[in-house]
Amino acid sequence: MTPDKQDDREPRQTMRTRLIHGSSRSTRWEYDHHVVPPITASATFRLDSAARGAQGFRLFAHSDKDDPSRPPIYIYDRLDEPTRGMLEENLACAEGGDFALAFASGMAAISATLATLLTSGDHLIAHKALYGCTYSLITQWLARIRIDASLIHMTDLDQLRSTFRDETRVVYFETPVNPDLTLIDIAGVRQVVNEANQRRDETDHIRMVVDNTFATHYCQRPLELGADVVCVSLTKGIGGFGTDIGGAVIGPRWLHDPLILYRKDWGGTLSPKAAWNALVYGLPSLATRMVNYQKSAHHIAKFLRDHPAVQELRYPGLECFPQFELAKKQMRDEHGRFAPGSMIHFVVRDAPGHAPGTAGTKLVDWIAQHAYCITLAVSLGQIKTLIECPYSMTHAAMPEEAKQELGLVPGGCRLSIGLEDRHDIIADLSDALDQL
Ligand SMILES: *Cc1c(COP(=O)(O)O)cnc(C)c1O
Repeated sequence: MTPDKQDDREPRQTMRTRLIHGSSRSTRWEYDHHVVPPITASATFRLDSAARGAQGFRLFAHSDKDDPSRPPIYIYDRLDEPTRGMLEENLACAEGGDFALAFASGMAAISATLATLLTSGDHLIAHKALYGCTYSLITQWLARIRIDASLIHMTDLDQLRSTFRDETRVVYFETPVNPDLTLIDIAGVRQVVNEANQRRDETDHIRMVVDNTFATHYCQRPLELGADVVCVSLTKGIGGFGTDIGGAVIGPRWLHDPLILYRKDWGGTLSPKAAWNALVYGLPSLATRMVNYQKSAHHIAKFLRDHPAVQELRYPGLECFPQFELAKKQMRDEHGRFAPGSMIHFVVRDAPGHAPGTAGTKLVDWIAQHAYCITLAVSLGQIKTLIECPYSMTHAAMPEEAKQELGLVPGGCRLSIGLEDRHDIIADLSDALDQL
């Protein structure tokens, strides 16, 4: 970066500032005269000599032999390249991990993490409620390569304790859980995993992986609370503008080399053009967006809580949230302020005699046709407010019994608050609820 920023002082800036300016000593790219880092578009890279090419291949995925203060030897986009590299430096800094690697989607990041940590014959424990594609990745694709999974209630730590087997290698969950925002106690799970690891050799340790997509690092940093690895979809809150698909894994040094080798060979690398949007627009604006999302979410959640047509309202920022104490403990911004996020889940009351979910469908259909600032669409964390019905949409892959057990009902609505004036969002919701 600019020469006057190249000094050895410890960073004293807040995360919000650092994600706007990046790390002060990036070796990724020299752009002394650029205020905005350039977008790179080169599938392959010119090498000065065969020896330099050979060195590049020798050092790839050998971070023990590499000197991080030396500019990387770029060879080919799928291995490593500058724009994505700068995004990765910032993501590692944001989550507080040793490294970040960016993938073509959130699912590419999650599948790479599980495939790197697990092999045939291993056992995985996950919370019962998962993002639909993660659910089908675990129950369909991992099962096919004989990785067995137990899907349990991770809110019950005794159940977790009694599910460990000798073959267990990974504990996986999202918190807040998609879609109903149930929380899993990250530090609590860490304790239980530690008890089990005490009796194991380091190579057999159970690793804890948390999907931090719903909260983002602004609201919660799982690595600080004891997780080993964080997966995140860049498509959602971090990307923020809904222009690109992407994902990332943030974790400890020992995972870097196997994971970058996996990415090289399975090929789900994030395109530099998508990386640039997250680097220049998404990450730098997250703190400011989240402050405003949360402010609006608080008012909108109160409006829904008090509306007679609403049967149930779940928002981690309100005292009526069943796990409010846990929310206050683990959902915090970098200054320690309560950061309950931008997601709301609510269920509307069906008229007597109507089939379950009739009112919810009617509400969402009315919004799709008539609302100005609420859009019926999946995804979340964007500047536009989005609503969807998890039961029949994002969580359609989940079997009926699992949905019933988790209290996922046909009339449930998931609302992702955007940057519109909250009065306009409430006006749309109020009009929609009046139609019921
Ligand atoms: C969207 C989402 C994913 C998958 O991310 P993609 O970028 O769509 O592949 C994973 N986990 C959660 C919680 C999500 O919401």
